Amino acid sequence: MAEIDWEERSVAIDGQAGTGKSTLSRMLGERLGLAHLDTGATYRVAAMIAISEMVDLADGDAIVDAFSRHTVRLEGESVMLDGSDVTGEIRHPAISDGASRVATLERVRRVLVDWQRDFVKTHGGAVAEGRDIGNVVLPRAKLKIFLKADDEVRGNRRGETPRAELIERDWRDSNRAADPLAMADGAFVIDTSDRNIAELVSEMQGLYYLSIPG
Ligand code: C5P
Repeated sequence: MAEIDWEERSVAIDGQAGTGKSTLSRMLGERLGLAHLDTGATYRVAAMIAISEMVDLADGDAIVDAFSRHTVRLEGESVMLDGSDVTGEIRHPAISDGASRVATLERVRRVLVDWQRDFVKTHGGAVAEGRDIGNVVLPRAKLKIFLKADDEVRGNRRGETPRAELIERDWRDSNRAADPLAMADGAFVIDTSDRNIAELVSEMQGLYYLSIPG
């Protein structure tokens, strides 16, 4: 039998902001003994670098150039930029907005997807979460999940974000030309609106063991 590789042992989790991706991915990773990859953090760091260096948020080449001059590491749940912990800073609303703008740029996406695939390979597989994981980052993942939740619930979960901004980001994520948020073929759709976290993690773990990579 052919050996299962790092991608085929991974989990792809996609969905809009506030659907529970981060909490569920982290907990599922712990259950399955796989690393957790928050791909949104890479777009956030790219935006943070661009904003702090006053790079035009529409200039993909300049953003990629600035990003390449820094060292970005994900250490457990901490996001490190050139050795400094920026986990809290990248959640600032201005960075959320900037991240969804730089994420529309094809050039930026190609560099960050390579970074993300390299992370998963280095860790021997991962539970990766984002918008394009099942379609672009890990198309051969063993399990693909698409999370959804009512707008009301998503807005409440992202309490710090004014709802209008969340809606604008969601719209941009779903309507951009480059790798828009879309459900991958073969993905299981789970509505997290009224569900309990422990129960959801167990359900996802069950799906993992029953799934065949493809
Ligand atoms: O997941 P999070 O809200 O932290 O992501 C921040 C932004 O990064 C998203 O609004 C989206 O525009 C972008 N993103 C993306 N593709 C991913 C992950 C995040 O375009 N795989």
